[in-house]
Amino acid sequence: MSRIAYVNGLYLPSRDAVVPIEDRGYQFGDGVYEVCEVFNGALIDEERHLGRLARSLGELRIDAPVKPGALKIILREVLARNKVANGYIYLQVTRGVAPRDHVFPQPSVRPSLVVTARQIDPRKGEAAASKGISVISTPDLRWKRVDIKSIALLPNVLARQEAREQGAYEAWLIDDDGLVSEGAASNAWIIDETGSIITRQVDHSILRGITRTTLIEIIAAQGLHLAERKFSIDEALRAREAFITGATTLVMPVVAIDGQKIGGGVPGAVTLKLRHIFHNAAARST
Ligand code: PLP
Repeated sequence: MSRIAYVNGLYLPSRDAVVPIEDRGYQFGDGVYEVCEVFNGALIDEERHLGRLARSLGELRIDAPVKPGALKIILREVLARNKVANGYIYLQVTRGVAPRDHVFPQPSVRPSLVVTARQIDPRKGEAAASKGISVISTPDLRWKRVDIKSIALLPNVLARQEAREQGAYEAWLIDDDGLVSEGAASNAWIIDETGSIITRQVDHSILRGITRTTLIEIIAAQGLHLAERKFSIDEALRAREAFITGATTLVMPVVAIDGQKIGGGVPGAVTLKLRHIFHNAAARST
């Protein structure tokens, strides 16, 4: 079955789905995106993802390409046409197509909207979580407004590639003060020897992960202690447990950092519990 993509009003087989070369996403990375998990036919935390999309667009002064109700219909149509019940849906909005010029087009042009969906066997994620993943640390070379979910992801791509080449799954980005910002495509967490769960506070230096936001509610409901603060790789290496969060990885145990084992090299019990609880607590929309 050929995959179907939505591109500016049309549902097309992936191979025919194209954008003009003067799209500002292609020329400048001038756009934003969202990735929402699909679990048993439901979108997970859709409202939060669409809320963050609206915020990212607002920060870049890009108009919404369609009304929120229409966007929800498009998302469901792409899922249905691709028969995706488990996996994720990707949507990207760029400032639109205009002759190449750094300044925003004047008058403004219609933003471009692309939506794709991908089926992933949920057993794959569960198999990875039962073993845990490795991360490496690498300097955070990104721009200073990574709270905007921008499609300008070259530093993230290079970091992920470096991780892959070193046999790890994720890269933790290290800021100028030697502290962990977040993963190349995930938020970073540790659990210290007292059981306190630590993740960096939200400001312009990290993306406010939707999985992170939902997990913070779960942590509170479980009566666990949370500290939103920065931590170093040294502190992470002494941690009892470590994990990452993201819409495609959920709560994924980290068992090694820069080749050194965390928690004896096996997934931590608290991490696995949080992973297990996640889908019961996250909002589902069909
Ligand atoms: N941080 C970065 C840089 C990301 O790219 C992502 C997801 O792609 C996240 C964090 C996690 O965000 P979410 O939980 O909304 O998927």
